[in-house]
Amino acid sequence: LEPKDEFEHKTLAMDVMRPRRSDPSLSVLTQSGMSVEQVEAVIADTSYSGFPVVVSQESPRLVGFVLRRDLVISIDSARLCQEGIVGASQVLFTEPTLTQPHGGPPSLNLRSIMDLSPLAITDQTPMDITVDIFRKLGLRQCLVTQNGRLLGIITKKDILKHMAQMTNRDPESILFN
Ligand code: ATP
Repeated sequence: LEPKDEFEHKTLAMDVMRPRRSDPSLSVLTQSGMSVEQVEAVIADTSYSGFPVVVSQESPRLVGFVLRRDLVISIDSARLCQEGIVGASQVLFTEPTLTQPHGGPPSLNLRSIMDLSPLAITDQTPMDITVDIFRKLGLRQCLVTQNGRLLGIITKKDILKHMAQMTNRDPESILFN
């Protein structure tokens, strides 16, 4: 990504992030309380490359970020090789504890595949700064928060598309040339 003068008139992260107002809401996982089956349904119903992990739906504070491919590999291999892991097993991204919840099947802890400190910016961050951060840190995506609540996500492609729109160029020509 090159520094762009077209961001001079202060586009903000909130103007570029997804979801847009009309889009379905951000697909997130919660750090506890979801079953293997529920996580598999999120994977099946979407095609996103990754999912933010939050404390809970009511308290959408960012805990981490997990890549779709790591989730798929870990769940598939746990179902095959890990004693007692079934659809109803709880998926946890919390610190492992020795005590298992009573009753149900053993839980599946996936904390080890989660990025514990994904980059997050606020919705008011100017896009020229955001582009700089993407370039300097080589990011593929970053999360957007407002007062500590997770609001959305910006991928590198979102930025490229936005730049293309502002310069009336075909995004493919910026992406692939
Ligand atoms: P592509 O898959 O075409 O390479 P991409 O590089 O932007 O696109 P994706 O993760 O597939 O990566 O994201 C597709 C679109 O969905 C982007 O606009 C992105 O902002 C948005 N998005 C990414 N992750 C999520 C999510 N968990 N929930 C909602 N929207 C998301």
